[in-house]
Amino acid sequence: MSYADLSSAECSTLLDEQKRAYAAWKAKDLSLNMARGKPSSAQLDLSAPMLNVLNAASDLQAADGTDCRNYGVGVGIREARELMATMLDDEADRVIVGGESSLNLMYDAIARNWAFGTQGCTPWGKLDTVKWICPVPGYDRHFSITELFGIEMINVALNEDGPDMDAVEQLAADESVKGIWCVPTYSNPSGCTYSDEVVERLANMKAADDFRIFWDNAYCVHHLSSDPAEQEHVADIARACAAAGNPNRAYKFASTSKITFPGAGIAAMASSEANIAEITKLMNVQIIGHDKLNQLRHVRFLHDAEGIAEHMAKHAALLRPKFDLVEETLSRELEGTGCTWTHPRGGYFVTFTGPQGTAKRIVELAREAGVTLTGAGAPFPYHKDPNDAVIRIAPSLPPVEELAQALEVFCCCTKIAVLEKLV
Ligand code: PMP
Repeated sequence: MSYADLSSAECSTLLDEQKRAYAAWKAKDLSLNMARGKPSSAQLDLSAPMLNVLNAASDLQAADGTDCRNYGVGVGIREARELMATMLDDEADRVIVGGESSLNLMYDAIARNWAFGTQGCTPWGKLDTVKWICPVPGYDRHFSITELFGIEMINVALNEDGPDMDAVEQLAADESVKGIWCVPTYSNPSGCTYSDEVVERLANMKAADDFRIFWDNAYCVHHLSSDPAEQEHVADIARACAAAGNPNRAYKFASTSKITFPGAGIAAMASSEANIAEITKLMNVQIIGHDKLNQLRHVRFLHDAEGIAEHMAKHAALLRPKFDLVEETLSRELEGTGCTWTHPRGGYFVTFTGPQGTAKRIVELAREAGVTLTGAGAPFPYHKDPNDAVIRIAPSLPPVEELAQALEVFCCCTKIAVLEKLV
């Protein structure tokens, strides 16, 4: 049955039915949250033992004898750089381990280029116009950073294999376009992973000398399946850029926020030798050294790439049933409504697309029934979804029973919003 084939009277009957169901949900006085991509407390418990890794009796020296209790080593202790290099798919020498947030590293990267310019180019802040390519739907906090700097954001469609590269190539050829936001693995929020072809084209396209790809690989090890055949891995942008003769084009970022503790993990970036030298010099003015005890704690808890993979398999075991539940519930409840949604193999989100003009209404109905969703429009620059159709579903935080209820409410609200357009 497709809603589009129903008569207006049939739609009215269905709408009345859904409104009754909605009233019953409202009467339950729910308070549920599917808004942010936070790990659940069960996931956080997985890393609780890390807090016992260091204590007053521990050897608090890094492998090279650095006393991690003291100032210094702005780029991070060697073993933490090696650990993060495995996530960043790079060499430890080209990795800087920062503080506890990769978003903060991205903000600083823009702020530095804004104030000082990069590799001898004019500071972005001195230019009349700075533009930025924003694959959509994308991560709202990326867009908040570029918006804050007054950078003009230009939407480009994010397809199943990455951004629409015809559009990206055309835009990047403009000298005033200085960057692009990319979440190349299990993208936030669509869950897509960039294809090799997209990586090649990003590396090879014509762009300004100081055009920078912000390669935010936040979900590079966040697979939902432990079967390697079901796991997605993106090609390395740095190698592709170097081979294309554009070695300074990419800044890569990652963090352990969704491995250990968000807000208390370690974050890192990797780039070319020249970029890392430039950044290190400027960062040394900004800070004497980040939290090396936290770096040490992470290395002793996670050890290496294999240790990270083992730990991530535990996260996956907790997350998989939630993603399965989203798929089952939406498939069962929304058949015939014309809605679509993504089927990610990793990451933290599902992107839902309803008929044009329904997203705000669905979010509002859900809120009135006690279910908080990410705001409609959030995955777009300036919070403007041109079709008012996309909603980011974040199933990680609520326990399964609460998620089940929240999804039922979501589907009921969706059916109401779709039917209201048809009667
Ligand atoms: N990038 C993406 C794509 C994210 O989804 C998130 C977390 N929601 C972050 C960055 C934030 O990372 P961090 O905690 O390292 O700042």
